[in-house]
Amino acid sequence: MTGSNPIHIIGGGLAGSEAAWQIAEVGHRAVLHEMRPVRRTDAHHSQDLAELVCSNSFRSDDANGNAVGLLHQEMRSLGSLILRAADAHQVPAGGALAVDRDGFAAAVTAALEAHPNVTVCREEIDGLPPADWDQVIVATGPLTSPALAEAIAGLTGAESLAFFDAIAPIVHRDSIDMGKAWFQSRYDKAGPGGTGADYLNCPMDREQYDAFIQALIAGEKTSFKEWEASTPYFDGCLPIEVMAERGPETLRHGPMKPVGLTNPHDPTVKACAIVQLRQDNALGTLFNMVGFQTKLKHAEQVRVFRTIPGLENAEFARLGGLHRNTYLDSPRLLDATLRLKAEPRLRFAGQITGCEGYVESAAIGLMAGRYAVAEREGRTLAPLPQTTALGSLIAHITGGHLAAEEEAGKPRSFQPMNVNFGLFTPLDRIPRNETGKRLRGPEKAALKKRALTDRARADLAAWMSGEVLPSAAE
Ligand SMILES: Cc1cc2nc3c(=O)[nH]c(=O)nc-3n(C[C@H](O)[C@H](O)[C@H](O)COP(=O)(O)OP(=O)(O)OC[C@H]3O[C@@H](n4cnc5c(N)ncnc54)[C@H](O)[C@@H]3O)c2cc1C
Repeated sequence: MTGSNPIHIIGGGLAGSEAAWQIAEVGHRAVLHEMRPVRRTDAHHSQDLAELVCSNSFRSDDANGNAVGLLHQEMRSLGSLILRAADAHQVPAGGALAVDRDGFAAAVTAALEAHPNVTVCREEIDGLPPADWDQVIVATGPLTSPALAEAIAGLTGAESLAFFDAIAPIVHRDSIDMGKAWFQSRYDKAGPGGTGADYLNCPMDREQYDAFIQALIAGEKTSFKEWEASTPYFDGCLPIEVMAERGPETLRHGPMKPVGLTNPHDPTVKACAIVQLRQDNALGTLFNMVGFQTKLKHAEQVRVFRTIPGLENAEFARLGGLHRNTYLDSPRLLDATLRLKAEPRLRFAGQITGCEGYVESAAIGLMAGRYAVAEREGRTLAPLPQTTALGSLIAHITGGHLAAEEEAGKPRSFQPMNVNFGLFTPLDRIPRNETGKRLRGPEKAALKKRALTDRARADLAAWMSGEVLPSAAE
């Protein structure tokens, strides 16, 4: 196998390092091109591979009750280098997996540099890769160098590569109080592919609205990073608190306008403002808050947004934010194995595909490496079940459902996301405890998570045993 062409990986971050490892470990040659220290990014400080640019946490390590904890477990069972190095350099952090960042990155770098099948080249790839690189994984992350970003945009069309990420919070549908909220599209417009009841609406009276505007203006905001400070806001993605500062009535004439909607819980009362939430995934388990991109600190978002009637107990799958981020419109551009449809020798991995976070990026790197190996060996990997953490992430990124919505003329947007249970295929039945009793509140939530994670473990094991391993293919 070592006689065949090497697989090239551009970018030695979380995703690229993991992809190179997966390729090398099964006997293929991997050439990893990392531009640091020849060229720096605005966030990295060292020349180590897999440098963590901000927090040192891989978040919860609870594989029974948390989607990212489950993702850790799945990656460990697939021989992840990133998880191996994280486990070896763990620092105390309660239920979270946090690491000594220098020890972690040094371990990943040493493992790859010492691997006989890996060559690390310290160079920027500043355009499309040479034609004789027949398999390439692009894992250059949110701060992809401008020259390469420009070359990619030339292939995908500039509108399909985002450089700035304005995200609104996403709420778990089952945490919304339907005693206060209701489904209705403005003026009951069905539109192509809609039903006329596509949005979830949360009404506010004058007093609630005024208090909400005050809370938005007073709420603590995150400050811009130095290089972001000069980046102008796009008109279409003004943070909600910036709109609120423009005048107390701005929001109720903008994203919170109360027109074309009737509250079935109390049709005689006219709302002062209405917050709308739009379905965010094909399963209908997640809803995003329309127009609510924000720079409020995360704790402030939870506090302020839970004052919205119907969202008092909202569970957030993702909170809002605004930062520089280079990512593809992956559902449209990539095939099911992360290859660019327009140029299949290029496969993408990591945050540039539209996942978010260290662990998710490494997980997509892991799968990109495995897809590349399978392709090199003329095999096809069975699709990962969407009941697993890895499979649900891949489905979010390559999500044919979004492309189908676009074809049906429905508005759609693809936003980067952390792994969360809302991306998983829902359970067939709500689980009960051993006595057969239906539970409520936190007990019900814990039982549901346990059932989801047990199902994921069983399905991943089945997928792994059905996979034709490289040794069997020889
Ligand atoms: C300021 C900031 C703070 C963040 N904080 C967090 C956080 O606290 N927690 C979290 O989970 N996630 C955080 N993220 C997101 C985090 O960066 C990603 O989740 C993760 O690092 C993405 O992994 P990746 O491998 O896709 O990209 P990266 O880890 O960024 O790796 C990409 C690599 O590609 C290299 N590269 C770029 N262009 C080229 C080129 N043309 N040629 C060769 N090499 C190139 C870069 O030098 C880099 O080493 C943050 C991101 C930013 C920008």
